[in-house]
Amino acid sequence: MSRPATDVVKLLIVDDLPENLLALQALLRDDQLEVHAATSGEQALSLLLEHEFALALLDVQRSGMAGLELAELIRGSSRTMHLPIVFVSAADREHGCTFRGCEHGAVDFLFKPLDAYAVKSKVRVFTELHRKSRELRRHVAELEAARAAHEQLLTTLRKTEDELQRALTVRDEFMSMVSHELRTPLSVMTLDVAMRSGKLGKGDFAYFSPERLHSMVGRDGRQLRSMTRLIDDMLDVSRIQHGKLSIRRRRTDLGELARHTVADFAVHYRDVPLHVQAAAGIVGDWDDGRIEQVLVNLLSNGLRYGQGKPVLVEVGMAADGMALLAVTDQGLGIEPQDQQRIFEQFERLEAARSSPGMGLGLFISRDIVRAHGGSLQVHSRPGEGSRFEVRLPMTTEG
Ligand code: ADP
Repeated sequence: MSRPATDVVKLLIVDDLPENLLALQALLRDDQLEVHAATSGEQALSLLLEHEFALALLDVQRSGMAGLELAELIRGSSRTMHLPIVFVSAADREHGCTFRGCEHGAVDFLFKPLDAYAVKSKVRVFTELHRKSRELRRHVAELEAARAAHEQLLTTLRKTEDELQRALTVRDEFMSMVSHELRTPLSVMTLDVAMRSGKLGKGDFAYFSPERLHSMVGRDGRQLRSMTRLIDDMLDVSRIQHGKLSIRRRRTDLGELARHTVADFAVHYRDVPLHVQAAAGIVGDWDDGRIEQVLVNLLSNGLRYGQGKPVLVEVGMAADGMALLAVTDQGLGIEPQDQQRIFEQFERLEAARSSPGMGLGLFISRDIVRAHGGSLQVHSRPGEGSRFEVRLPMTTEG
């Protein structure tokens, strides 16, 4: 049966007489055997560095001590220490040589005159042994590769499981936060409706004075706005998660947009001074509705976390040629270690817990700005206030 080329094994024969080497080479001629011959210890050593041999046949009759020294060197090197060595020695000095051979690391002996059958069968035993151990090493390597792949798979599985667990926790927290955030305006409205039905039931129309009706409508509007905003935010988060947040660009004057938005805000937040400094002519292709949403988020944060101090909205050109929209407050400020995480969904700082919110505004805002090819960054010092800067490319390819 023919063997694959990879089954070819190498054999080293060392003898200082070239005619002996030729005779051995002729004797061992075989397709599956690659015989390398050396006439000196140095030559043998350089072959040993180059090849991986299954067996070395060392003549110790003529090369005398040189053969034994070579055996010692072979045993002494980590690369060749396990190479089986067969000493070829003269039959008449059998005992002395075998003894010394053993000391120097021989594993077997062949005696001269060489018997062709004995040489061949001995070489066959060692080459088979070599093949088997090579095969075993291959199997071990395959097993190791399979084990590593298995380990890798397990790591991936564990990671997926962790992610799943985290997603479940986020979902649970989200559900409880949504219920909480919806419950507040809903219970205010429910109480109001119950009160009004009671009054109507009793025919108490005097209760519905023009001032009271005015404040009722105002309150209803606020509760409805807060619930609508909550639902819009949740829809936006879902769109962002599915990569479906759409941007509809049109020519937009950023200064004008800022002035209108701040004017709308000022109607509802009469107690806090709101200022606008907007350069003229900052016009680009942006989704005005979405940019207004960003500004509303930043402004309402400035008002909620600004401790009643003035909030400034600026519009201009940044040094890098981008349009700049900045909202600066003089309130709580944000610790350096929190300045990145507030842009993640549901992240709220301890100081903000007392005011309503779901920790979605900045997450959505950053995504909207990024969808325009821009950036949203914060600069803040705890206790001194925060400045949120939006940078927008003037052209769509930015
Ligand atoms: P929300 O305000 O609804 O909690 P945001 O995503 O807008 O959600 O903000 C996340 C968190 O970042 C807030 O809860 C608050 O802790 C912090 N934060 C945002 N803006 C400011 C600000 N101007 N000053 C101080 N902290 C802020």
